[in-house]
Amino acid sequence: FITLEHITKSFDSQMVLDDLNLTIKENEFMTLLGPSGCGKTTTLRLIGGFETPDIGKIYFDGQDITSLAPNERKLNTVFQKYSLFPHMTIAENIAFGLKISKKSKEYINDKIKYALKLVNLDGFEKRSVDSLSGGQQQRIAIARAIVNEPKVLLLDEPLGALDLKLRQDMQYELIRLKNELGITFLYVTHDQEEALTMSDSIVVMNQGYIQQIGTPEDIYNEPVNAFVADFIGESN
Ligand code: ATP
Repeated sequence: FITLEHITKSFDSQMVLDDLNLTIKENEFMTLLGPSGCGKTTTLRLIGGFETPDIGKIYFDGQDITSLAPNERKLNTVFQKYSLFPHMTIAENIAFGLKISKKSKEYINDKIKYALKLVNLDGFEKRSVDSLSGGQQQRIAIARAIVNEPKVLLLDEPLGALDLKLRQDMQYELIRLKNELGITFLYVTHDQEEALTMSDSIVVMNQGYIQQIGTPEDIYNEPVNAFVADFIGESN
């Protein structure tokens, strides 16, 4: 569904990804897991179109998207800092993410309502951003990303700023959204437990290389090397 072929990326003289090969299946919840600086965010940004690889190709649904701009890809990205517009209402924030060329007011309002319902914030249209908790703001960021019903959602540590309880609630919500909407998720985290709980498959990365790809059970029970064993073991 999404394929990365021989992706190499350097910043200045530092090689961040070295001949990375990866396939993400349709409707899969795939997590990139690894320590800080291992190249997770760079991989996500390459797929989202916010970086271009030095070498290699990225395919989505059979199409070479390596040179397409972010808005030309049928993908949507949510970053850790949810970057809502503080001076706009919730409805205006969601409408901002909506492709609204020549759409009626009813269409836009229906879409906003639909998006709010999906993230369990019905009736929040007129609220201001600063009247919402961090968790609610992150839900709005997710609503804004899914309002156009993208096929793929790229999430970079979206729950990183939340406390434990909210993080667990949101983990559950994201899994529900994945099942309800049939969206493919590519998720970045350095949190082993989060990866083990949420993912269909986990890609364990270290220093620009993939160490292991497998189901949570595979990674947990049958780590292929000491790095994976130690990294997963840190959560216990
Ligand atoms: P973290 O969990 O800390 O976000 P990460 O695994 O997501 O880490 P990346 O953000 O992909 O790692 O960064 C990998 C390496 O690339 C780091 O050493 C980082 O400093 C470097 N890097 C990333 N983006 C840039 C950039 N725009 N310019 C220079 N160096 C960069």
